[in-house]
Amino acid sequence: YTRRLIDAIPKVEFHPSGTREVPLLRVRNLVKAFHIGERVVKASDDVSIDVMRGETLGIVGESGSGKSTLGRAIVQLMQPDSGTIEMDGKDISHLRGAALKAHRKRIQMIFQDPYASLNPRARIGRILTEGQMAHGVKREAAQARARELLKLVGLRESAMDRFPHEFSGGQRQRIGIARALALEPEVVVADEAVSALDVSVQAQVLDLLEDLKQRLGLTMIFITHDLRVAGKICDRIVVMQKGRIVEIGRVEQVFLSPRAEYTRNLLEAAP
Ligand code: ADP
Ligand code: MG
Repeated sequence: YTRRLIDAIPKVEFHPSGTREVPLLRVRNLVKAFHIGERVVKASDDVSIDVMRGETLGIVGESGSGKSTLGRAIVQLMQPDSGTIEMDGKDISHLRGAALKAHRKRIQMIFQDPYASLNPRARIGRILTEGQMAHGVKREAAQARARELLKLVGLRESAMDRFPHEFSGGQRQRIGIARALALEPEVVVADEAVSALDVSVQAQVLDLLEDLKQRLGLTMIFITHDLRVAGKICDRIVVMQKGRIVEIGRVEQVFLSPRAEYTRNLLEAAP
C-alpha cells in the first residue's frame, strides 16, 4: 500500500482556499442540535467549510464548541439535522447501506484515546485486519498490509501478536493511526489525537502524522482544543465558538493577526 501510494501519487500541491480548485469536501449550513431536558444545545449552528485536497485543516475552539460534532458528521458517525456534506461534488450526508459502507472507507477517524477505541482483548493483528476483511480484503493480504502499516507508523512487525495494554500511550496512538490508514482513506479526521499524550510524545506523533500526510497525499482535518498544537501541523485553521465559526484563515494569519476577539483570547490563554 505504502510503496504503491508513494510511487503512484504525484506530489500533492496545497491549494489555498480562494483558488479555482474544487474542494474535496464541502460542508454547507450544517445544523445539529441536542435536546438536554428543557435545554437545546446547538452543537453545530450553520457551519460551512471547504476542505481542499491535500491540506491539513485545523478545527480549534474550547471544549463544547462543536468541533467533534463537525468531525463526526464528516465521517458519518452522526446525521445532521440539516445541511449537506459534499465529497467530490456529491452529497454524502444521507447515504445508506452499501453506498455508506463504500463511502466510509474514504474518510477515517483517529480518536483521542486509542485505548478506549482499541478492543483490549484483540491482538494488534486482528485490530489492523478486521476492518480490511469487512471490506472484502482476503486474510493474507490484510495481514501483509497490517505488517506494512506497523512499519509505516514506526512499530515492529512483532506487534501483530501483542495486545493494546502492552504498549505505551504514544505507541497505542500509532496503532490507532495504522488502523485508520488500513482502508487506504483519502481523508483522515483526527479528533484530539495527541491531546492525551505527554508533550514530547505529542511532538513525535505530530511528526508522524505530518510525514504520513506528505507520503500518502492525505487530506487531514485536525481537531484540537489546543491552538498551539494546531499551529504546528495545520495549513489553515477554523476557530469555533458555541457551534459557530468565528474565524477561518491561514495559520500565520490566525496567529499573527486574528480577526475575532475570541481567537485573540484563545491565543492569550495558550501557554
Ligand atoms: P467539542 O468537541 O468542541 O468539545 P462537541 O461537538 O463534543 O464539542 O459538543 C458540542 C456541544 O454539544 C456541547 O455542548 C456538548 O455537550 C453537546 N453534545 C455533543 N454531543 C452530544 C450528545 N451526544 N448528546 C448531548 N449533547 C451533546
Ligand atoms: Mg471534542
